[in-house]
Amino acid sequence: MRKYFSDIYKTIWSILIGMRVTFGHLFIPAVTIQYPDVKPKLPERARNRLYVNMDDCIGCLQCEMACPVNCIEIETVKSLPTDDLGTTSSGQKKKLWVTKFDIDIAKCCFCGLCVYPCPTECIKMTEVYEFSEFDRNNLLYNFVTLTKEEVETVKTKAAEYEKEQAAKKAAAAAQVKTTPVAPPAQQPPPVQPS
Ligand code: SF4
Ligand code: SF4
Repeated sequence: MRKYFSDIYKTIWSILIGMRVTFGHLFIPAVTIQYPDVKPKLPERARNRLYVNMDDCIGCLQCEMACPVNCIEIETVKSLPTDDLGTTSSGQKKKLWVTKFDIDIAKCCFCGLCVYPCPTECIKMTEVYEFSEFDRNNLLYNFVTLTKEEVETVKTKAAEYEKEQAAKKAAAAAQVKTTPVAPPAQQPPPVQPS
């Protein structure tokens, strides 16, 4: 009988000890948040999804070269002397058409190495960190603002211009070859000593 009451006492006592911890935590401010209803406050330099402002991109390839996992792919085409690509927001004249600017964000390790060398600060980390996808292909971000047709036109025009220039150079070189070289002027015979 004594053991019976002793067991009841121990049970109630151990419950009270457990509840003491529980009640104690009721009055301590919570360290967790109700994500996703409540969004966490991000640190100032958090690295999340990348974004490229193509209006400011000059196609210098610095970001592509800096990426340690080769997840940035850029292609550029030289503009023609008659093209006006405008300027960046800092007033820098744009000279290259950017015909491809892809970032495979599935490969990205968020190191931020592409952000620092950008001379126009147009590639940057955003505050977006929720961008999971069911289809992996949706993680290949394409930032080019030109349409497919515009890209084709730019490439065709550039190729034609290159061809024209090459033909002009070849014609100039051929002209130089066919122009007869004038014979050297006749030298007077040397005067014999008398
Ligand atoms: S953050 Fe790093 S891994 Fe991601 S694209 Fe930039 S350089 Fe490449
Ligand atoms: S470094 Fe900046 S300007 Fe140069 S290609 Fe990359 S995003 Fe464009």
